[in-house]
Formats: sequence, structure tokens, C-alpha cells
Amino acid sequence: MYQMLLFAGPSGYLFRPCLGDNARRAAHQTPELLQELNVPEGQTLHVLTPEATEQIPLPYPEAIPQQPSERYSVRDIIRRVINTLSEDNLRENLDGLTSFDNRYYDSVSGRESQRWLFERISNITTKSVSHTTSSYVSVQEFEHPWLQNSIIAQIKGKTDELVIIGAHLDSLSISDPEGPAPGADDDGSGVVSALEAYRAIISSGIEPNLSIEFHWYAAEEVGWLGSQDVVKAYTQRGARVRGMLQFDMTAWVKNGTREEIGILDNCADEGLRNLTTEFVAKYLAIPSVSTKYPLDYCSDDRAWWEAGYPTIGVLEGTFENANRLNIHTQNDRSDISPEFSFSHMLEFSKLAVAFAMELGGVAG
Ligand SMILES: [Zn+2]
Repeated sequence: MYQMLLFAGPSGYLFRPCLGDNARRAAHQTPELLQELNVPEGQTLHVLTPEATEQIPLPYPEAIPQQPSERYSVRDIIRRVINTLSEDNLRENLDGLTSFDNRYYDSVSGRESQRWLFERISNITTKSVSHTTSSYVSVQEFEHPWLQNSIIAQIKGKTDELVIIGAHLDSLSISDPEGPAPGADDDGSGVVSALEAYRAIISSGIEPNLSIEFHWYAAEEVGWLGSQDVVKAYTQRGARVRGMLQFDMTAWVKNGTREEIGILDNCADEGLRNLTTEFVAKYLAIPSVSTKYPLDYCSDDRAWWEAGYPTIGVLEGTFENANRLNIHTQNDRSDISPEFSFSHMLEFSKLAVAFAMELGGVAG
């Protein structure tokens, strides 16, 4: 039987399950144990009691097989994780995120909304992280020289090579930077589509071969400043990235058009474009379509792309059918029109699970 250890540090939480014996020893926090468990210096270690651990409910009645076997292929396992995704979670998370006046990167409201998201992700992690996983799950804030931080959640795999899913957590009102900007589609939709995929993966207890990271970036709307900062730090430490997938707007299905996933031609690695097209066909209920931003605009994927990493961006449909009328105004709300679709957003959560687990692999 496993028990869960919770490491709480100044800027994040680190969760790791361990054997009961270790948990008992951890209560005394011997230096050897802290070293053995790789607890970063200066962090405090808390042990969840067996009673507290038992109160955490299993997220689904039927256990997901943890490893590929003769009976279960990687595809079966990914499908089962996809089946645990929930539209209600998307709604609940988006309602919270859009309840702030705006999420402008260098404002008090921008900071408070980001702090709310960090707490939300931390709480989801505490509730969802599986008893049986032997991987680390950590949630950290990444600080910038302005008020709003970026947020990084990591599911540590067997190697340090990364698969990254990104979205931007800031919003912008074009008429007045500190005016109302709910940013429900741009990019609240991408933020919560990614978050629901993260919840499903950590709940499954599956250990990936590669490390999977979810990034929620600050300050995209003012020139992708947050992702540029993050990329700089990752480049400096020589990070290896198998693929980076960016979600910027996942909710809108324009009246009278076919529901589809727009795969962007901008900042697009050829191999990742083909794989993403394949994952959509294999795991999603709707087709993909190739599309392009004018003027070679991208999103946070541009920061990775310019540093030479393989990236791919997806959009709620073609650029022509996207929600261009409401974004960057006070009308970027989920109740503005039936064209704002939570079931459409859930298709992007499926894509994030497929991308992370197909590229990240399942440790066997
Ligand atoms: Zn955006």
C-alpha cells in the first residue's frame, strides 16, 4: 500500500507517493531521507496520514491499466484516460477564471486571477494525483519582472526529455488594458482544456517515459513575454523537448460551419503537424483542417519555435471561422452565444491527452 508525501515549498507543491515505511521515517525528516527523496533544499516535507490519504476518492470506478500488455495497447490506455474527461470540470474552471475583471499581465487583477489559477491547479493535484503512480507531480510558479507569474505543472517521467502543452492565462481589453476582459475564449478556453487533460492524466496513475509539462503562460497578449522568459530559462539549462503543443482559443464553432480542429501552418514542425493530424483522426470525434494566421502570427509556440524547438499550434477551427469579433473586448464571454461550445473544448482536452501520452509514452 502506498502513502502519499506532500512537499510544500515557497513557490509550489511536489507530490510523491512512497512506501509506508518511508512515510513513517519522513515524519522525522532525516537528512538522508530528504536526500533520498530528492526534496529540494529549503523545502518542508509534510506527510499525509493514512486516514487523510484514504479520504481521497478514486476518480473512476474502473481502474485504468498502468502499462501496455498483451491485453491493453497504448491506444486502449489513452482511450480510457480520454473517457474520464469531463465537460462539467471545464465549465467550473472557466467560470472561476473569468470571474476576475481582467487578467492583464501587470495589474492587481492579473496577479489575483493567476494566483487563483495556481491554487486551483494545486487543489486539483492534491485531489487527483493517483495513489499508485510512482512518478512525481509538481506545480510551480515561474516568476517574471511583472506582477503576473506563469505556472508550470510537471509529471516527471523516466527521462528529462519533455512534452509540453501550453496555453496563456492572461487576457487583454484592446480599448483599455485595465478594462473588463473576461477572456473566456482567448485564452480561458485553452487554459481549461489543458487543465482538464492534466487532471485526467495525473488521476490515471500512469507513468510516462518522457516528462510531461503543462505550461500556463503570463503576458502572451503583450508580445508573448511570459513564454519567452520560460524558453530562455529552458534553453540555458539545455532542456530537450520532443514536442510543444499550443492551445490558443478552443471554444468557438461558428454558426453554419462544420466543427473541426484547426491545425496551424504557422510555427509548425512538419513531423508534429502530421502526428497531430493522426491523433485527431485516432482519438477525437471531429475532423481536423489545415489553417493559417495572416502575417505569420503565432502564440506562445513562437517563443519555442524561434529557439529551435519543434512546435505545433491548434485553433478552434479555421482562422476565418474563429471568434474574432468578441476577443479582446468585454464580450469575450462563454454566455455570449451558443457558438461558445464546451463539448468543442473537450475535444481539445482529448487532443492534449493523446499528444502527451503518445509522444510521452507509457512506461512498461
Ligand atoms: Zn490568445
